[in-house]
Amino acid sequence: PGSSTGSSTRSPGAERGSDDTASRIWHSWTPVRQRTRPAIVRGAGYHVWDDAGRRYLDATSSALNAVCGYGESRIEAAARTQAAQLHHFELSRFTHRPAAALAERLTGLLGGPLTRTVLVNSGSEAVEAAVRIAIDLWPLRGEPRSRVVTLERGYHGSTALCQSLSGLPHLANRYRDPIPVTRVPLPREGAALRTADGLERAFELIEQAVAEPHEDGPPAAVVLEPLLNVGGGIVLPPGLLARLRRLCDRTGALLILDEVFTGLGRTGAWFASQHEDVRPDLMVLSKGLNGGYAPIGAAVAAGHLAEDFAAEPVVGGLRYGHTTSGHAIACAAALATLDVIEEDGLVARSARHGADLLDALTAGATGPLVTDVRGRGLVVTVEMADADLAARLVQAATARRLLLRQQGRAVMAVPPLTIDETGVREIAESVAGALDDVRTGGRP
Ligand code: PLP
Repeated sequence: PGSSTGSSTRSPGAERGSDDTASRIWHSWTPVRQRTRPAIVRGAGYHVWDDAGRRYLDATSSALNAVCGYGESRIEAAARTQAAQLHHFELSRFTHRPAAALAERLTGLLGGPLTRTVLVNSGSEAVEAAVRIAIDLWPLRGEPRSRVVTLERGYHGSTALCQSLSGLPHLANRYRDPIPVTRVPLPREGAALRTADGLERAFELIEQAVAEPHEDGPPAAVVLEPLLNVGGGIVLPPGLLARLRRLCDRTGALLILDEVFTGLGRTGAWFASQHEDVRPDLMVLSKGLNGGYAPIGAAVAAGHLAEDFAAEPVVGGLRYGHTTSGHAIACAAALATLDVIEEDGLVARSARHGADLLDALTAGATGPLVTDVRGRGLVVTVEMADADLAARLVQAATARRLLLRQQGRAVMAVPPLTIDETGVREIAESVAGALDDVRTGGRP
């Protein structure tokens, strides 16, 4: 099985990619006994097709990363050209042009002190790099700090260290404490969080966590997402990031912003932290960085942090990296993705179409089953009264050929930034229809 010549040993369904083939893959985050799932075989624009020929509007951007949609010929060509010239060369002893150009480009986009980029292969690896920089830094400065402050409902990836940052119930507690973490609960649910009172309370709780007396001393870093993804598409109170920046300046804790999900235009700005004109000490990027055309992640650090690592006693630098870190094809795809975002004005489109989608869903997703509608840019969340209703809404939408993402009670519409008026209208109509199906028990 799996060999192109061994057709006699193929399982039924292998050609179509469903059923038996799926059972050979140990799929993450889903029940191991789940057998049937369609294979996605093709994509174009903001649509994908399954192996039965059904077309879906993909308001999930795959795993929230296909910012330029599917079949983008400029990215494809850049990746192809790079593959033909040099598919990769490792970055510890050498450099290569696409990596150097990408690091330069990110510095230009991020501005200010963010000048040194660690390139890796995923969001988790990029978070891991950023957190380890923050923790390894303090002994080099002669002040051991190893504690990190995070939000309990934050999500920062699925390696042991990344999972330990989160207090979400479905992340394994076994991996809880490779480093000391103070996880701060959010004080309010839904719209109440986005009020002046919600801001005051959220800030107070984080401030207390930072100040808390601890055997590991003051925190090395505060790590958070500007808009919580897996936590449920949670829009934080406006003004919180700016206040956290000032708190970190006062206490010396590094501010690590995990913009794996929100970076690269998703929220209607190049980076979500720019809505509040905040620059972190370390910025973490991944998903949109090359639109999912190849694995990539980046932790962009303030240049002076890298200088501190000259005193590192073993290698005189960062002890972190992978064989395929900063893969040349992935970097070339990233450079082309940044070109596409710029040339096609996708950041402004994200702001405009996101606002339209939020308006349409605020007007159309109403009734007792819906507890909140919120969003920023092209992340629009309909929060349902419970997780079962949310699952039913996603199922009903899928039956109407619209892919949505469920996180607990939250149902998120996160289409490619290339979505247009027609796509926005279709999403809004399908969500309204799917809500009716859930209410009446009709359709799927
Ligand atoms: N951080 C955030 C905010 C994310 O949304 C994700 C992925 O969903 C990650 C980190 C982890 O990224 P990856 O799945 O590429 O490891």
